[in-house]
Amino acid sequence: SKAEQVRAAPPAEPLPRVLHPGFTVVAGPCSAEDPRQLDEVGAELVRLGVRCMRAGVWKPRTSHGGFQGHGPPALAWMRGACDRYGLELWTEIRDLANIPEAEGRVDVAWIGARNGQCFELLRAVGRSFPRVVLKRGAGMTVEEWIAAAGYVQAGGAAVALCERGIRGFDRSFRNTLDLAGAAWARRLSGLEVLVDVSHSTGLPALAAPMAAAAQAAGLDGVMAEAHPRPRESVTDADQALSFAELGAMVRGLR
Ligand code: PEP
Ligand code: MN
Repeated sequence: SKAEQVRAAPPAEPLPRVLHPGFTVVAGPCSAEDPRQLDEVGAELVRLGVRCMRAGVWKPRTSHGGFQGHGPPALAWMRGACDRYGLELWTEIRDLANIPEAEGRVDVAWIGARNGQCFELLRAVGRSFPRVVLKRGAGMTVEEWIAAAGYVQAGGAAVALCERGIRGFDRSFRNTLDLAGAAWARRLSGLEVLVDVSHSTGLPALAAPMAAAAQAAGLDGVMAEAHPRPRESVTDADQALSFAELGAMVRGLR
């Protein structure tokens, strides 16, 4: 039962960690667009003391006609920027076919919300990348999310969870941020848990307060989308933080 799970003794072996100690901030554009964009983001992250860059190289799009990501060239641009600025490279592995193109070039591989229960992908990513983040599908329960993480662990990887909002009824928000679900998942699983403050709300104005809330809830970090020129972002322009908004979010954390 749930109560028994919560009371169960913590695992004898400490779980392998995905994140470094302290509260982790991962930030960067929705999509890796060009080398200049990634360079500007890298320089800003260093100024803010942020150590992890995110960007989508293979984009999961609702419509097949949407921009699908620049693929391997974008990964090379991103690797260049991350190495230049000493940042970790975080990107999504969208399909099995991305794995050979990304293996050895990525610090943290994430599984996107749309693939949260694509078990063969989870297993394969767990075999190919040592550090993996599993985003929660918009329709997944906390139990399903934790169970899916087991497929990644079965491949041998260290896994962390990322709450990115679930499908709710209120269209004021892109999704509904389930902060309680994130805190509960952390308690039930012992895994590290991040909150994606961008996809969960869709509202830049909520990034700073929700990041602070994630920290207050005892979670392990936040992910945010930021762009040097938000309105020019080729994907998710409406939710992209400006550098000023990103700075405010970071300064609001302890
Ligand atoms: C993303 O982080 O770029 C993304 C597509 O998010 P999600 O899978 O949570 O929708
Ligand atoms: Mn996005």
